[in-house]
Amino acid sequence: MKKQVLISGASFAGLTLAYWLNKFGFGVTVIELGKDLRTGGSPIDVRGEALDVAREMGIYDQIKANEFVHTDEIVDADDQTLVKFAINTLPEYLGDIEIHRGNLVEIIYGAIPKDEVKIIFGNSIAALVQHEDHVEVSFEKGERRTYDLVFGADGTHSMVRKIDFGPEEEFKKFLGVYFAFAATNHIQTGRPGSSGIVYRELGKQAVSYEFLNGVNSILVFRAPKLNWNYRDREQPKQILREYFAGNTNWKIPQILDAMLVADDLYFDEACQICMPTWTKGRVALIGDAAYAPSFFTGMGTSLAMQGATLLAKELYANEDYQIAFANYNERFKPFVESVQARVDHSLKVQLPETEEELQASFAAWSNQQ
Ligand SMILES: Cc1cc2nc3c(=O)[nH]c(=O)nc-3n(C[C@H](O)[C@H](O)[C@H](O)COP(=O)(O)OP(=O)(O)OC[C@H]3O[C@@H](n4cnc5c(N)ncnc54)[C@H](O)[C@@H]3O)c2cc1C
Repeated sequence: MKKQVLISGASFAGLTLAYWLNKFGFGVTVIELGKDLRTGGSPIDVRGEALDVAREMGIYDQIKANEFVHTDEIVDADDQTLVKFAINTLPEYLGDIEIHRGNLVEIIYGAIPKDEVKIIFGNSIAALVQHEDHVEVSFEKGERRTYDLVFGADGTHSMVRKIDFGPEEEFKKFLGVYFAFAATNHIQTGRPGSSGIVYRELGKQAVSYEFLNGVNSILVFRAPKLNWNYRDREQPKQILREYFAGNTNWKIPQILDAMLVADDLYFDEACQICMPTWTKGRVALIGDAAYAPSFFTGMGTSLAMQGATLLAKELYANEDYQIAFANYNERFKPFVESVQARVDHSLKVQLPETEEELQASFAAWSNQQ
């Protein structure tokens, strides 16, 4: 009899795991909170060994065909260009592929045979009870089922982690940074050849990105831990006012005004998820749910695809899931830790705290032109 597994979350981690476990003979069900695939978000990177994973899955050519190639500019407070660069051609990114988040989700989803893998949208795990030989799962919409193994691939604010491992605060490393993201289509960057326009000052960054026929803007800023409830939709606007009102540099007034009335404002704190172990009994976590490195590293997607693939291969190689889980923890941890450690450097470049660091951050790009 096929081992039955449940994967919570249909994004990079969950869909990659579903692809492999189905291939390796498991009975796979994926449950996704969204009513459909969640295809929003800014472009993301596929790097290093994640590109090998894509080749193994037979989706590399599709990813490459959808590559997002662009030129960006860093500007000063008066909108004068300081540096212009094409990130895809810089030596440290050569070979990596940047792609619209939604395109990659759809490509991985497209690789999964829908007549073999069951994908349920608009539902969530509500409770998990672990037994010696199975896991009993209750769903938000009422039904209850049993599985051999359960996987949490449900992102940074993972429900599976919360239910089975403990509250988010126990594993969250706050990076001292908040960010806000919104569609700002009326903002014209006035630079037809460039996609991303970046303005940077001490502890703050504003970016307007033109992609998929729209303009999106991001405000990022350093701040101590704020008394902020992520369910409150108005509070982020108050916080943005506190940090940006009266700042007349570059297009900050226009971006702030747009964010204060935006229906789709996405506001969060930048954080990493750091856990001593990603498995507990018959439950394992993958992707951001287990080891979110934060978007500053540009490695969330690659870690998700690599981690899911490594775990699936361990489960294929070892009949005993406990050995597979132990190997997954042991073999992937050094890489995860090295990736998470990169965030300090990225923060220094993107949100410099001294004038010296600010000038160095411009020079870093101009040296690579
Ligand atoms: C809508 C969206 C937009 C994003 N935009 C960006 C971006 O602009 N830049 C960036 O760097 N990263 C972005 N990310 C995060 C990025 O996708 C991840 O950092 C990374 O690629 C790791 O992927 P993941 O599969 O582990 O997690 P995620 O991509 O976060 O996927 C988690 C999945 O789990 C689902 N989920 C959440 N809770 C439940 C639940 N209770 N039950 C079932 N399913 C659940 C989510 O809907 C989502 O599909 C975004 C993620 C999402 C979901």
